Parts: sequence; C-alpha cells; structure tokens
Amino acid sequence: MELIDIGCNLTHDTFDHDRQAVIERAREAGIVQMVITGASEEGSTGALQLARDFPGELFATAGVHPHHAIDYTDATDRLLRDLAQEDEVVAVGETGLDYFRDFSPRDVQRNVFRRQLQIGVDSGKPLFLHMRDAHEDFYAILREYRDQLAQVVVHCFTGSREELHQYIELDCHIGITGWICDERRGTHMKEFLEEIPINRLMLETDAPYLKPRNLRPRVKSHRNEPCWLAWIAGTVAAVRHEHPDFIAEQTTRNARAFFNLPDAEKGSG
Ligand SMILES: [Zn+2]
Repeated sequence: MELIDIGCNLTHDTFDHDRQAVIERAREAGIVQMVITGASEEGSTGALQLARDFPGELFATAGVHPHHAIDYTDATDRLLRDLAQEDEVVAVGETGLDYFRDFSPRDVQRNVFRRQLQIGVDSGKPLFLHMRDAHEDFYAILREYRDQLAQVVVHCFTGSREELHQYIELDCHIGITGWICDERRGTHMKEFLEEIPINRLMLETDAPYLKPRNLRPRVKSHRNEPCWLAWIAGTVAAVRHEHPDFIAEQTTRNARAFFNLPDAEKGSG
C-alpha cells in the first residue's frame, strides 16, 4: 500500500527530538510522500526547509492559519508570495476561517483569507484550506474566487452533508483525517463519507493532532504521526465499503495530481 499524507505538521516542536525517526516510521508504513503544512510565517519557512532536506519525498505548503490571522502583515504577504514561487511549495495555505476557537477576530480572519486566496490566484498554486464552524462566510468568500483558482482542498473536513455537497459542487477536493475514527465526534460523517466522489478524496493525519481514537493496538502517546495514515485509510475503506488497496491507490493518485508531485522513488528509505 502506498499512501500520501497531504497534511502533517512535521515542523511542530513535539517532533523536534525524533523527527527523523517519525519519517522513517512513516516510510515503513507505506507513506511514500508527505505534504508539510505551513500555518505561520515561521512554520511555512520551516516546512520549506524540511522539504528541501527530503527532496521528492517531503513537500510544503505556505500560509497563515486563521488562528494567526491577527499577526498577518504586508511583510507576511510578501513572504508567502515568495514562498509560493518555490518548487517544493506545492500549495498556498493553510488558510481559511475558524470560528470555533476565534483566536483572531472574524473580520481579520476574512481579510487574511482573501489575501491568501489572491496569492493562490496570482501564483496558480493549489489551495489548502481550513474551515471550522464558519461554513457560511467561508463558502461565500471561496465562491467569489473559485473560478480564478487552481485546485482547492478543504482539509480536515468535519462538516455536514450539505456543506460537503456545496464544496463538491465548487469542484473542491476533500481531505479526511482521523476525525472519522472518533466515535464521539466523527460518527455523523460516516453517513455520507461514501458520497465523496472517489476522485475528490484525499487522506491526511494532521499530525501531531487528531490521533485516531480507534487505533489498535493502543498507543500511549497523545501525539499523532503520519505512520498511522494507513489506519485512517482502513477506516475510510470500511465506512465506504471499499477495499483498502483501492482507497490507497485512488487517494494517492488524487494527491499526486492535485499537488503535481513527482512519482515516488521505489525502494527509498
Ligand atoms: Zn486545519
């Protein structure tokens, strides 16, 4: 099984002491390529650096998460525009709206979301988007820009069936995380996971967050790792009544086309 983790926060400091081992474990688990999420100025620069250390295997996004929208300046905008020109930076984001935490004021979030969508328009790179409890505003803004954008993924989708179908109608891809493995919060999605067209589906861990709660054998650490992407793929396959190999093959193909990734090198690592 070959998988691509389209969203992992490998620059997070919980990986500082064993990042190399985490990458090795991912390789052994069949994760052939990973896209490192950039969620701040520092994080985006770090993600590019990490991608350069593992050419052909790790890639980066460059963006500012809605939590940090309040820190977004003209200098940030210039930096993200520069980063978007780099070959290893395969998407703009993560950007979007998060009204669940409201760490930045909502009007600031909307403005910063628009500025990064414009970077997507100008650079022609795909968009890696975050939405939580903000569907109405998020959808309205995205729709304004959609025609001018390349590919768009709504990452870590946790919304409703109606929201899902609105994004699919906007020609978005959908990123599914271990949220689907959560028997407390993920159950509603099991009812409509099958309605995601197979060519729109991609998988991600969002590590170190969202460790699959149904993981067996149990793992003590709270930290999520890209090596558990196969478990998420298995859960998605079971819910959709499809073979895990089919899910792996399709989502890997989707991710490679979406981010314009090269073929993975056989037998590396
Ligand atoms: Zn996110």
